[in-house]
Amino acid sequence: PGDSYGVLPWPCRALVLLNPQSGTGRALEDFQAVVQPMLAEADIATTVFITERPHHAHEKVRDEDLSQWDTLVVMAGDGLLYEVVNGLMERPDWEETMKKPLCILPGGSGNALAASINHYAGNDHVAKKKLLTNCTFILCKGLHTQMDLVSLSTASGKRLFSFLGFGWGFISDVDIDSEKYRWLGNARFTLGTLQCLAKLRVYQGPPGALPTDSLLVPPCQPVPAHWTVVPEEEFVSVYAIYQSHLGTNLLMAPAAQLHDGCIHLFYLKAGISRVALLKIFLAMARGTHLDLNCPHLRYVPVRAFRLEPRAATGIMTVDGEVLVWLSAGSRGPTGSSHIPFP
Ligand code: ADP
Ligand code: MG
Repeated sequence: PGDSYGVLPWPCRALVLLNPQSGTGRALEDFQAVVQPMLAEADIATTVFITERPHHAHEKVRDEDLSQWDTLVVMAGDGLLYEVVNGLMERPDWEETMKKPLCILPGGSGNALAASINHYAGNDHVAKKKLLTNCTFILCKGLHTQMDLVSLSTASGKRLFSFLGFGWGFISDVDIDSEKYRWLGNARFTLGTLQCLAKLRVYQGPPGALPTDSLLVPPCQPVPAHWTVVPEEEFVSVYAIYQSHLGTNLLMAPAAQLHDGCIHLFYLKAGISRVALLKIFLAMARGTHLDLNCPHLRYVPVRAFRLEPRAATGIMTVDGEVLVWLSAGSRGPTGSSHIPFP
């Protein structure tokens, strides 16, 4: 409610950032076979930029004049969109540039945002080529709307922006190193997908400066008194998600919306059996995991949170990409919050 919808100009000029190594390495082929003909019919002219290495798209959108494009389209996995979002946020004119609609077309192995948008659009759950077709169709219609971005700060002083989720422990380990979780069978992570056309939120703030984060206090200070503290416990996993899907087949936060100002925080406490864990993952295919009433699984919708690991172990991920959170001599909390509403 209250969100504004926009429509792309017609005819429309799109810059397509494509990672040829995404997923099974078929992004370019799929783009030419499925996407290109649909966009041509919709009068969307494309310029395709094929990434040659990690960080290539980040540099491209950070350094170049983007005024000739009406939309930036990412044909890849969530990882490439993460690069694009953070590259855009490094521009001195980020505030203006972030008004440009972004679109994700599922071309990777991790297409969670695409799956989420397909879900928000009211489409049936689909994967692969069908998901790509649905997402391309949304782009052809030219409809766009706002999407929340989450601001993330590490104790070592890094500031990042995230559109999908932050994870620590089990889920991130599976995402990055799924081989050791073969026993999960089909429920093993296939981080997934789609897309849509989403305009990122526009933030208040002095031009040039990054948006201020009014919810997080510096890592050296205790959290504000009105915050809820979950005292020292052992966690199997902590996952904060802001979209409905964690993967094409994982409906983790059924209540999530693109622009709800909410971080859906899940954590699994130690002591959970493998059978219970497996049941949770199987139930996630339909988004019914909370109905299991598993005493080890907790769900809290929050506006901000801070994670203070007691030991320097575990992979942390942001939007499915590994977050390097341990720099020499730095140890401390990692915090995440929604940037203040405009
Ligand atoms: P997937 O969903 O398969 O992981 P992504 O599009 O998310 O696919 O990309 C994964 C990673 O690949 C990103 O971190 C990105 O920086 C990197 N990348 C981008 N272009 C290339 C390239 N040409 N070769 C290798 N890696 C690349
Ligand atoms: Mg990825």
